[in-house]
Amino acid sequence: MKEQLIFDLSRSGRKGYCLSPFDIDERPADELLPSKFLRKEPAELPEMPESEVVRHFVRLSNLNYHVDKNMYPLGSCTMKYNPKINDYTCDLPGFASMHPMQPESTAQGALQLMYELAEMLKEIAGMKAVTLQPAAGAHGELTGILLIKKYHEKLGNSRHKLLVVDSAHGTNPASAALGGYECVSVKCDESGCTDMADLRAKLDGEVAALMLTNPNTVGIFEKQMPEIEKLVHGNGSLLYMDGANMNALLGITRPGDMGFDVMHYNLHKTFSAPHGGGGPGSGPVGVSERLVEFLPVPVVEKYDENGETRYRLNSGKPDTIGRMMNFYGNFSVLVRAYTYIRMLGAEGLRRVSENAIINANYLLQRLVEHYALPYPKPVMHEFCLSGDRQKKEHGVRTLDIAKRLLDYGYHAPTVYFPLIVSEALMIEPTETEAKETLDAFADAMIAIAEEAKSNPDIIKSAPVTTPVKRLDEAQASRKLNICCPL
Ligand SMILES: *Cc1c(COP(=O)(O)O)cnc(C)c1O
Repeated sequence: MKEQLIFDLSRSGRKGYCLSPFDIDERPADELLPSKFLRKEPAELPEMPESEVVRHFVRLSNLNYHVDKNMYPLGSCTMKYNPKINDYTCDLPGFASMHPMQPESTAQGALQLMYELAEMLKEIAGMKAVTLQPAAGAHGELTGILLIKKYHEKLGNSRHKLLVVDSAHGTNPASAALGGYECVSVKCDESGCTDMADLRAKLDGEVAALMLTNPNTVGIFEKQMPEIEKLVHGNGSLLYMDGANMNALLGITRPGDMGFDVMHYNLHKTFSAPHGGGGPGSGPVGVSERLVEFLPVPVVEKYDENGETRYRLNSGKPDTIGRMMNFYGNFSVLVRAYTYIRMLGAEGLRRVSENAIINANYLLQRLVEHYALPYPKPVMHEFCLSGDRQKKEHGVRTLDIAKRLLDYGYHAPTVYFPLIVSEALMIEPTETEAKETLDAFADAMIAIAEEAKSNPDIIKSAPVTTPVKRLDEAQASRKLNICCPL
């Protein structure tokens, strides 16, 4: 399973290319450039034929787990298969070779794409306007919170609290704190939804907004939205929706219609750009009427010039919160999302969500006898099991189960999140998996539940088939060892 370094595979004089003779100036380099800019030694680069380069990187990619290899049931992260046509469009030379400082007149196509993508996202979420600037979900949250802050400032309010439901993604309280707010936690009730009594108790004159995830992080739709909306708006507070779970709602219902004032999308989740490992994301923010004037600049606008449709970036917005990015968001993710939405159309997007929901419920039904289900309700696009039974009866923890899944050839689900579920195993199959794949994954989970009874040690010593065996969880993320030994 080991792969040698590309430098060790290198053999002097091997080449992966041949160039035709130069037909340009062939004077020696030190006549063309001042000698202080020239290398003294040749660059230390590996020398290999193309075939060996390709094989080296394919072998490396096989040491890793990825969504092109098998199902990736990481709850809340929406690791769906990413259609390759998205990469094709974003590699088109007109997009790939653009520079952010290019004059607007030469970037009309890119501006049109951004304008139209924002229009589509407006329609999908039922919001009044959308900015594409934020570079990730959490960055979208911060943008939304700064918009809320500006709104209250303009009204002369000095509200300093944000309410966050305790099942929320960890980025919600973090963004609230970064935005300068005191974060107050609202409890979930026994059904996994917002505890209305606790919400009423905490909703006072200091509350700027409530941050809610719908469907929430245990995959359950908050049916109390009309009541929540009345309470929150009646208190002069705003409603923020964490829209990272939009994969469950496309074409079915809209946050704008539920009364949300501001929400962020995760384009890299819902609209299928490859993500993870800190790769580029995109967290557009949609707003209701009352927040439009505060959106970040520059705003992409469409206008008419002598009967011709043109697009421009407008920074002349007096009440804006300013810029959230130096340039304009992660453009390649915008191209991918645009392609994905245009390929599917309205009908296709609705089927994405319907299939995501049926896949999650099917998988849940196959597993529910074998693992505890803390909130026994039909779910939307994901569900959250608990490894409590395995822990109490056999001393096998959720972490062990997650590691054992690697031996069965699957990426582990999200574990120990949300915090309200002990020994949480949060599973999101997504719409892109076939019934056979879901069944094979369910069979693996069931086999592990059986192993917990008959041979718990095999689970506790997992994984045994991966290139790297069990790591010290705490050290592994604090002391990264990503260098090769010299
Ligand atoms: C992924 C996620 C976020 C954060 O998005 P990033 O792009 O990782 O910053 C926020 N909330 C929920 C519910 C999420 O699933």
